[in-house]
Amino acid sequence: MSDVQSAEEPAAVEIKQTSSEVLSGGLRRHCENCRTETEEGNIYRYYYGTEISKSSTMEGSYQKITTTYDVAGTQETYLCNQCLAVKFLKSSRISFIGLFILAFVLLSIFFIAINKVSILTVLALLAGLLSLFFTFKVLREWRAASAQLKNKDVAALRQLASMNPDLGDLLSIEITSYRLKSRGFTNFWSRSQYQGLSKTKN
Ligand SMILES: [Zn+2]
Repeated sequence: MSDVQSAEEPAAVEIKQTSSEVLSGGLRRHCENCRTETEEGNIYRYYYGTEISKSSTMEGSYQKITTTYDVAGTQETYLCNQCLAVKFLKSSRISFIGLFILAFVLLSIFFIAINKVSILTVLALLAGLLSLFFTFKVLREWRAASAQLKNKDVAALRQLASMNPDLGDLLSIEITSYRLKSRGFTNFWSRSQYQGLSKTKN
């Protein structure tokens, strides 16, 4: 995988110089999502580009597919902490459902196979209990965030936002990437997704 820095200057993309540190000093801005003017928010950033090529090679019996992208630039978006908390609630609901199903399946395997104790049934039990533990952990976080949002707990929402920068990047992609899509860009990455790409420069 590689990404190539495009020479093209992004025309309609605003890259703001203001950092989140400056913002916490009392600068008020409009949230890109709900349009509220507030200083309780952060600037989030994502990368955008296009797919150049796809190649596949055989590694033993596995087929390895390498996709090469041209990363054209970054987009910065200001989002308020309330919108970030709503996004957090949505994504933790998805995690909760996923983990609950996983725990249910693994523990069912254990109870169905309980008579023939083997390493697999023990593993199913352990993995099932672990999933159950994380299900309740996510539920606790969801309830805490839900209460913070309801009570408009400014300090707690600020902390929630600072602990989940990637969610802000993903929400920015959801709400602003259509402008870039109309200019032909097809791929979008949050900061942590971008860090996961292996990089080469031409
Ligand atoms: Zn907002």
